[in-house]
Amino acid sequence: MQKDAAVYDQNNIFARILRGELPSHKVYEDADTVAFMDIMPQSDGHVLVLPREPAAELFELSEGAAAAAIRTTQRIARAVRHAFAPDGVSIGQFNGAAAGQTVPHVHFHIVPRYADRALRGHASEPQQPDVLREHAERIQAALRELGLA
Ligand code: AMP
Repeated sequence: MQKDAAVYDQNNIFARILRGELPSHKVYEDADTVAFMDIMPQSDGHVLVLPREPAAELFELSEGAAAAAIRTTQRIARAVRHAFAPDGVSIGQFNGAAAGQTVPHVHFHIVPRYADRALRGHASEPQQPDVLREHAERIQAALRELGLA
């Protein structure tokens, strides 16, 4: 049986960041999407990409917003790879608490993977703000160098 659509909570933490009520270490934004550093990164360079459209899960997102989100995800992943030179890059998106989703606004995780380093836990270890700022600046510089800014 199909589940009902998740109700969108207008006060979830990402909705508040999108409205500018809470700060973030932003790396990119356009009319349809925003990308910022994950404050509890599983590895150095972990970025989140959000469509601006309010939707808790991928299932409720319009096709246009989904297309914009994956386009920005590809763009930011290219910049993350350029800036951090990881051995690989995982891209993930969780729907529902049972799948590991902790913030109910659709987002894509871009997680650089380093062969010699284990991932930190999901949403478990806050990073220092000055480290996040420096990582955001590296990704912004990479976007400029790649002509993607
Ligand atoms: P998910 O579990 O897929 O919903 O992922 C939510 C992600 O958001 C986790 O990786 C958290 O570390 C991250 N996170 C939570 N609060 C914030 C915040 N205020 N700014 C940036 N990232 C956040």
